[in-house]
Amino acid sequence: MAKKTENQILVIFGASGDLTARKLVPALFNLFVSENLPKNFVVLGASRSDMSDEDFRKRVVTESKYLKDKREELNTNDLEKFANCFYYHDLGGSYDTDYSNLKKRIEDLKSKHNTSGNIIYYLSTPPSLYETIAQNLADAGMSTQKNGWKRMIVEKPFGYSLETAKELNNGLQKHFEEHQIYRIDHYLGKETVQNLLVTRFANSIFEPLWNRNYIHHVEITNAEDGGVEKRGGYYDKSGALRDMFQNHLLQIVSLIIMEPPISDAPEDIRDEKVKALRSLQIMKDEKTLFNNTIRAQYMPSTIDGEKVKGYREEEGVAEDSTTETYAAVKFFVDNWRWQGVPFYVRTAKRMPTKVTEVVIHFKTPHHQIFQDSGMSSKDNKLIIRIQPDEGILIKFGVKVPGQGFKVERANLDFYYADLAETNVMEAYERLLLDAMQGDATLYARADEVEAAWAFVDPILDYWANGKDVRMYGYAAGVWGPENADDLIEGVGFWRNPGPELTDEPGYCVLC
Ligand code: NDP
Repeated sequence: MAKKTENQILVIFGASGDLTARKLVPALFNLFVSENLPKNFVVLGASRSDMSDEDFRKRVVTESKYLKDKREELNTNDLEKFANCFYYHDLGGSYDTDYSNLKKRIEDLKSKHNTSGNIIYYLSTPPSLYETIAQNLADAGMSTQKNGWKRMIVEKPFGYSLETAKELNNGLQKHFEEHQIYRIDHYLGKETVQNLLVTRFANSIFEPLWNRNYIHHVEITNAEDGGVEKRGGYYDKSGALRDMFQNHLLQIVSLIIMEPPISDAPEDIRDEKVKALRSLQIMKDEKTLFNNTIRAQYMPSTIDGEKVKGYREEEGVAEDSTTETYAAVKFFVDNWRWQGVPFYVRTAKRMPTKVTEVVIHFKTPHHQIFQDSGMSSKDNKLIIRIQPDEGILIKFGVKVPGQGFKVERANLDFYYADLAETNVMEAYERLLLDAMQGDATLYARADEVEAAWAFVDPILDYWANGKDVRMYGYAAGVWGPENADDLIEGVGFWRNPGPELTDEPGYCVLC
């Protein structure tokens, strides 16, 4: 039975920005269409921009390009009903101000729409403002749970390093209790990511094999075919490791390596994820970091006859930038289950295709009967495709018909899209609904975020200050620098899904 969603107000700080129009309002639209919004519900956008309620409605609903196709799903009455849920409050010139006017506005909306005192504050501003907003809310008595619950959703990035993540966590926790804080990682809103838990813990055919005795190595690829687009200025201060690896990919790693939780209660699952992240073997010395990490930048290239800029030519990027657009890391997990099993995780921009997948490579059978069949190159693989074409693929050996025992690899596949009757929620839609219902399972807890940074910090430090550290180049449109294969050498090779789009060479050293 679907959980009940209590009446509430959603206050979005930074509501004039890109995320609100592009992700949050379309997610709310879907929830409205699927009748998942509470009976009494309003959204109050709050920013410094000068806008009326009507301007805001036009901007994010009635004239929003992100709802262009969706609007046709609704008749005029329903569209108006949805648009009328939106209100706007001008904070004046700053987020660091007295929130008593905002409080009054919320009280008025509460009385008018009978929304009760339940409020979600969604912080969709630059992160430098998160603590300021939390403090001003608390100072105005708006974080107290006396009359209805108060929750705060925080957008990534959660810090820039372990130290800044701790500062941010401490800063927020001064004004809100940890259980009120929801750190959103939209990767966790994807069905296939959640399905990692179900694959492992609701099937008895995988979990008994899910350990060092049967798994040879684990590979995770997150590839984007696009470059940094208009985000060059932001990206150049961040890089692939901070932007994707520290958060989304380590969250996926934690779901792969965690021990079975006691139950599906949010805290039980999150406790196991923290334990998993704490068991990542932290790389401390330069030799280990040199041997186990690779960073690179995309270079100019021609893809399908079109010239593509190199990273250093992108708008907002420094000409001598050493920010990585490709990061590959090999690491181990220090616990009983995973001892000695290498993990290979890479993330990059300007790859041949857009894909995120996990590949579990199983070991070659211990005793090989079919000696001449090249079995070792035909080992079992479990491929969990997170995007696009969400699904699962198992590769297994079958006998080729005819005399003797020639073995070939066959596929057993499942695609989420085949579940035609099921409405697969988009990530923000699912996560917003979870927060509205007080389910924090798919949100990152402070200790999870800090454990992930503790693993990533030494790599970032080495890349910034290491003696032998290198920045490689790869032509936009290939699978990264050639020497990324050195990382996985002796174990196999990266599984490069999708066709090669360019034949330009992939190897060169920039510095
Ligand atoms: P924007 O840069 O569009 O900023 C949102 C709003 O914040 C702006 O409209 C502006 O509103 C206010 N703002 C921006 N810069 C400043 C500043 N220097 N000082 C004070 N206010 C400022 O951000 P997004 O909407 O793209 O993203 C919001 C948050 O979500 C960010 O933390 C981002 O890191 C995160 N995020 C965004 C994603 C995306 O796809 N956009 C994806 C994942 C995370 P006003 O001037 O009206 O006050």
